[in-house]
Parts: sequence; C-alpha cells; structure tokens
Amino acid sequence: MTDDILTQTLQQIATTTSTPIITVPNQQPTISGQQYRIAFIGEAPGANEEEKGIPFIGFSGELLWQLASKHGILRDACFVGNICQRRPPGNDITEFDWEGPEIQAGLSSLWYDLNIFKPNLCVLLGNSALRAFTNQTGITNWRGSLLMGGPCAQYKCLPSIHPASVLREYWQKCLLDLDLKLARTEGMSPTLTLPNREIKVDLSIDEIIDRLYQIRANHTTIAIDIEGYWNNITCLGVAESPQRCMVIPFTGWEEADEQRIMVAVAAILSDPLVPKILQNSLYDTFCLQYGYHIPVRGVVDDTMLQHWELFCELPKKLSFLSSIYTYPREPYWKDERDDESRATRLTYCGKDCCVTYECRDVMARQLKSGPLEHYHFNLQINEPLLYMEQKGIRYDSSKAKQKLQELTSTIHRLQFALDSIAGIPHPTNISGWVDVARDNLCFVKSAAHVNLVDDIVPNSKNTCLHLALRVADVLRAAQHSTGGSGSGLTYRAVGELAALTSTSLNVESKNQIADFLYRQLGLPIQYKKEKGRKTEKETTDALSLLTLYHKTLDPTLKLVLQIRGLRTRSDSLQASVDPDGRIRCGYNSVGTATGRLSCYESPTGSGFNLQTVTKKDRDLFLPDDGYYLFECDLSGADGWTVALHCYACGDPTMLEDLRYGLRIPSILNLIATYGRVVNTWPREKIKEASKTVDRKHWKDYARKRVQHGTNYGMKENTMSDQILKDSYKLTGNPVYLSPADCKIESTNYLSRYPGILKWHARIKTQLKQYGYLISANHHSRTFFGRRDDYDTFKDACADEPQNNTTFATNWALLQLWTDPVNRIYCPIITRSQPGVAPFKQRQRLTLRIQPLHQVHDALLGQFKKEDAAWAVSKIKTYFNNTLKIAGKDIVIPFEGAYGDSWGNLKEGKI
Ligand code: URA
Repeated sequence: MTDDILTQTLQQIATTTSTPIITVPNQQPTISGQQYRIAFIGEAPGANEEEKGIPFIGFSGELLWQLASKHGILRDACFVGNICQRRPPGNDITEFDWEGPEIQAGLSSLWYDLNIFKPNLCVLLGNSALRAFTNQTGITNWRGSLLMGGPCAQYKCLPSIHPASVLREYWQKCLLDLDLKLARTEGMSPTLTLPNREIKVDLSIDEIIDRLYQIRANHTTIAIDIEGYWNNITCLGVAESPQRCMVIPFTGWEEADEQRIMVAVAAILSDPLVPKILQNSLYDTFCLQYGYHIPVRGVVDDTMLQHWELFCELPKKLSFLSSIYTYPREPYWKDERDDESRATRLTYCGKDCCVTYECRDVMARQLKSGPLEHYHFNLQINEPLLYMEQKGIRYDSSKAKQKLQELTSTIHRLQFALDSIAGIPHPTNISGWVDVARDNLCFVKSAAHVNLVDDIVPNSKNTCLHLALRVADVLRAAQHSTGGSGSGLTYRAVGELAALTSTSLNVESKNQIADFLYRQLGLPIQYKKEKGRKTEKETTDALSLLTLYHKTLDPTLKLVLQIRGLRTRSDSLQASVDPDGRIRCGYNSVGTATGRLSCYESPTGSGFNLQTVTKKDRDLFLPDDGYYLFECDLSGADGWTVALHCYACGDPTMLEDLRYGLRIPSILNLIATYGRVVNTWPREKIKEASKTVDRKHWKDYARKRVQHGTNYGMKENTMSDQILKDSYKLTGNPVYLSPADCKIESTNYLSRYPGILKWHARIKTQLKQYGYLISANHHSRTFFGRRDDYDTFKDACADEPQNNTTFATNWALLQLWTDPVNRIYCPIITRSQPGVAPFKQRQRLTLRIQPLHQVHDALLGQFKKEDAAWAVSKIKTYFNNTLKIAGKDIVIPFEGAYGDSWGNLKEGKI
C-alpha cells in the first residue's frame, strides 16, 4: 500500500483513540523463481502477529505453513496478508465496522499490495476474506470453489477454511489440506477454467422424447435428480455424462404433451436396464413412487453412500462432494435453486445431475475391495428402506388423541402448580380471564407488531382469533360447570387458559427458568459443561436440573423437568398421520458416522423420528387387519463385539460369560456384594447366585450403564452424568451413582474383564498409526479428529460395536427382502387416471413377511396371522447370520415376539 494512504487513515484513527496503533503490514514474497504465484489472505493479525509485526506467525500460521509445505508451497515464495492490518479487540473482527476505517484502510492497502505482486491465485482464508474479495458469505458453502468476480474481480480465488477455525474444529484440517493441494496446481496460472457442461433446459417435446428413447435403446448410464416434493415435482434432470444433461420440466406443457412426457419418463425410470446414479436416492425414489406411482429401477450408484463409505465423518451434501471431487471445480451453485429466472433454476437441477455423475466416477475409482462390498450392501438396503417408507404403519389416531387429551390436562394441572410457586398471578374467575385474553390476544399491540407476528407465523391473525375462540370455549365450559357463577375455575382450566394466553412460566425458555430458579428461588446457578469442563455459561438443561435436584431435593426442579418431558411426549402424540391412517418416516442409511440409521419425519409430512417412540406409546402402532406385528431384537448386541475383541486380546471371560447366559450387571452386583472372589467362582455358581439379584433395582440399571460406559472409554464423571440423564429420560426416576461409585463399579468390571483395557490399547495404537478402524462388515472409518485426543478415542471405541449391530440388523432385513419364498408377484396393473402417470407394471410385489421399521438393533414387521408359525421360523433364519468379528465367527443371538400392536407383543415368541 502507499504508505501515505495507510499513514493518513491510521492517523485519523489515532486522533480518536489514545492507545498507540500497531499495524501488521502485508508481506511480499522474499524468494522468487517458483512457478506458482499464490497470495494467502487472512482476516486480521492476532497477538503474536502484533508482537512480531508479521502476518500469520502464530499458531494459525504454524498450521498453515506446515500444511502448505506438504504440498510444496513455500511461505517465503508467497504473498501473505490480511484484509485488516490491525488487531481487533478480543481478536473479534466484528468489533470493527465493515465500512469503518480499520477494514476499509486495510482493504485499500491490500488491493495496492496485491497489485504489486499480481498473484495467479488468492487463497481466501475464512469468511472475512471471502466477503472482501467476492461479496459472498458462507465459507462452509464456498470453500473449495474456484471463482472470480466481486470487488476483486481480477484474481482467481480459492476460498478455504481459516486455520484458526481448524484449530478449534480439527476435523476440518483435511479440508484445508485438500484446498492447499489444489492451490499448488491452480497457483501456476491466473486462468480460471470452469467445467464444460452442456445443460439443455429448453428442449422441445420431440427432442426430449427422442433423447429418452436413445438413452433407453443404448442402456446409457444416467444421473438423475428431481426438484420439488412428492406431490409437486417441478423437473427431472437426466445427465448422460458429467458434461451432457437435459432438464425436463414437469409443468408448462399442454395436457397431451405432459402425458407423452410422463409416459416416456416413467418408462425410462422404471426400466432396470437403464443404470441410474443418484445423490441420496431414497428421497427421489420415494417422491417418484409415492406421489407419481413411478418405481425407479436400476439404481446402480448413490453418491451419498459412496462418499460415506470413503469418509463417513465428513459432510454428505452434494455441494460438499463437489468441493472435493470435481475438477475443473464446479463453483458453489446451490443458491441458484431459488433464482428468479426459470432457466437458472432448471440449470441448477442439471448441474446437480452432472456433478453427481462426475463425483460417482471419481469415487468409483477410489472405492475398492471390502468398503466397496459394504457400499453395495448399503445400496441394496435402500430397497427395503424405501419399501418401509412407502408402506408406513397403521396408527391408532383416536387413541393417540385420547392420550393427548389426558396428557394435556396433566400438563395444565402441573403448569398451574408451577405458576403458583413462581407467584404468577392468574385470575381465578371468568371475568379476570376475559381481561387477560383481551390484553394478550385481541388487542394486538401495534401495527408493527402485527406485521412482525405475521412474518413469523403466517396467518397469525387467524391464530390469535383461533386462540381467542379456544379461550372462549374454556370459559364457556367453566361457566357451565360452575353453575353460571364463573368463580372457582379448576386448576386444569386455569392451566389451559394460561397456556392459551401465554401467561405461564415457559419451561422451555432458558431465560425464564434461569431467572425463576437461580434468582427468584435462589438455587445455586448451574453452568454448562463443554468437553467435560465447566464454562461460564448458565444452563437449565436436563442434566443441570437433575444434578441440582440430587443436591437440593427441591421438588420444583422435578416439576419443571416433568412438564418438559410431558410436552415432548405431547409433540409426538400430535404427529401428523397420512390420509390413509398410516404414519410414515424417512430413513438415511448413512445418517451417522457409526453406520446407525437416522430417521425423521416423512417427506409426506407425517410421523417423526420413529426410533424414539417410547414404550408408553408403542400401543398406537398397529398391524394391518388380519396381521400380527412383530419385533425381533439382537440380544446385548454391542456387547458381543466387545467380548470378541477381548477374546482376540487373550481374555475369553466375557465371551464365555455371555455364551453361558450370564448377565453382566448381575455379576457386578455379586462382586459388589461378595468381593472379587466372585471372579474365581465357577459359572454355575454365578448363575445360581444371580437369581437373587433384583433386576428392577436402580443399581442394576446403573451397572448396565457402567458396563457400556467402560467399554467406550468413558470417564467416571461423564458416566455418572449419563446415568442420571438417561435414567430420568427412560423412567422418570433419576438414578444417581456418584463418580466415585462409578469408578468402583468400573474397576470391578475391569477386574473381571481385563481384556477391555488391552482392546482399548489396541484401538489407541491403531488410531495413532493408521487413523482408521475397520468393522466386521469391512467398512473402514477414517478418523479426522486429533488422533491422540480423548474424544477421538471414545468415538473409536463405540464405532465398531454400533456398526456391527446395525449391520447385523440390516443383514436380517436384507435376508427378508431378498428371500424368494417371501415374495409373491401379482399380475399386471395398468394405471391411467387423469393426472397420474400411466404406465404398466408387469408385476406387483407383495411380501408375506413385511418389514415396517428398524430401530438400531431391532426389526419390526408384520405377517398374516395364519402365517405365524411359518413366519416365526423364517424370521429366525433371517437373523441367523455369521459375522466375523475380531477374526472370530459369531451369530449374534436374538429374540422376538409378535402380537396385536407394537406395545402388546404377547401373542407368541420368536
Ligand atoms: N489470523 C489472521 O487472519 N491473520 C493473521 O495474520 C493471523 C491470524
């Protein structure tokens, strides 16, 4: 920068502040002769930079230059600078106004200095640099893109993660690493090369039909993607290669043309001989089949599953995949989805398809042997998952409604009690409530308020009216039941009125509850823990209230928690049910890094995460008429993996105990009672003595948790917290086992199974040496956290047990799905209703044993009542699969039952 501009501007600032101004100037390269010309641009100097007067000299810089040198980039050959050359207060750049002198002077200095260097590539580290150069925001979206444009249009830019952010979230190191690798290549030339894709969005009907015909005739592999929802698909993209794509709009055609298109689309999608690639295929295939009756056959690749198989800890969005797999790099395009221009929106869909195709090709070259096998397994498991998503489960809505009424009434009663403790004055007569309702609902405070509320809650005026009407209903009922006098409202009525008029203490509001508990009642303030350490942030989360309850036994705390719990349950009881009386959900077979399925509300809007349905509400889930509903679970599933690893480490005790049918919590009880001498007892004696153990005792629950916690390397404080939290969630009764007692129980456990520590040591060595672990299903998980970090170690301990359990359950599901004896094909059905795609299904599949749901280590389904004996023996064969865990073959034991609802499986056993 011209020293003049900088000096002048900074002098201006200096006159308004008393502290001396320190600037850290941008640094030109000191060595030349390299083929690359790269500028690294950060945000602003920190303390170390300020002290030495050199940018990126502190911890961030250390990391940055270490990674850069790995890719042959020398710091001294690069330009290093910041958008602001002054250190912001608290190292927080938002303390400086963007238009203010610090940043604006910094920018002019930067433009000037860059103009001297003339880089081929600017690596933009973090959000501020991204904004300054491109006018874009959202570094997570833009990282890895190559782009030009914005305020500094003359330079090719590569946004990346700021190294300071990597130091906070270490897994991102791999992203900075990848970007620096790209920087080395792109730094060689100033030219921006964008992908060359031919995306047609305005083909005529004949051209579309002709292309579809060619694809079908040649069995061309296509990448497809829909935009929209199950009941309103706006277009379908069809890419024949990463470079060539057409986008078929579903709207805007004459009726006859639309019919022709839909027939051709249905034909190609349902043709198994046309191989298809999708990103997150479950979503598209669900929408097409559920809403348009178009089955999608011939799915040969799903890029989300491929990517998960390679890097299960990394984000799974297509834009992320693009940012690491495409080259020339497709710049971030996801904002184009909502563009005003129809052509841009359609092109967006085309880009999705082309990028999907390209990512598929790249990953197909990387996926090999074991992981490839497991990827194919997951791809196949999507078929029964789609079946379950489509089928849904019959739901007893009227019973749910009745339960909800009872629950709501209880909530109102408890809320009344809480409000009384909080001293919230609620009127006890009707006229008082009329005033409250008028103040809170009818006289909306100001026009601005109305607009605001309307923005947030569409039709909120109606909502206010609706609430007012409900208040009137409650008051009318009260007047009626009190013989017209209107005095002496019930607690429930007052609770309900308070809820309707939002005049209660809100148990979900952190501020309200903190004020009430810590200021009004004077209870000791609880602080949030992060990574096991106490922070300065106040909290009212469940764990903190339970801990406080344990210390003070103040019943108000339990009341708050109870109301919260009931409200959560009431949310699930209010879940939407589809018009056919069934409840559905969506699945993601790679929803978590450990391979556990995740589950959420169905795209139809019905259901919720059905893996969280509590025992109390399982009776709402019914089999179809004439069917039994079954559940089959793996017994002690995760524990078997641990036992086999201990065995491989030379300690067979756990495996032998489990095979003998001993319960580990019972053994812990015996050790606590008789001492470690129990470890010398023959198993027969232990089994006999175990009969005296009270399995319903709270300590039995705690010991189960100690067992799991110790397996997964948990420390005693966390173990104690987890026991408290989980026991309350499960039963409503908090179980407290002090950290010291957890330690004793855990040591007892290890005294019997010392192999666990050897297994842990093996995990640590494996992590340190290789950074990945392989499960029984050949899936390999690369760990991106710090390799010697405690959290990484804990994740690694839990990984294979959970992975194996999910695999064993899904394997049973796949056996059920592929068993030819379980399949019945019905004859041809032709659909030709107006508005529905006419197509021919040659055969319709019916299953005799039908899967309905998966909950980690359990499979739910239904079979006809008359098939019961046959189905039970079949289900047993589906679960009878041999896994090789830690080098040893095992069939994880299972047990199940069936009956008239998920909550009542009393008809027979599996
Ligand atoms: N962070 C930045 O953004 N710039 C520096 O110079 C150092 C840390």
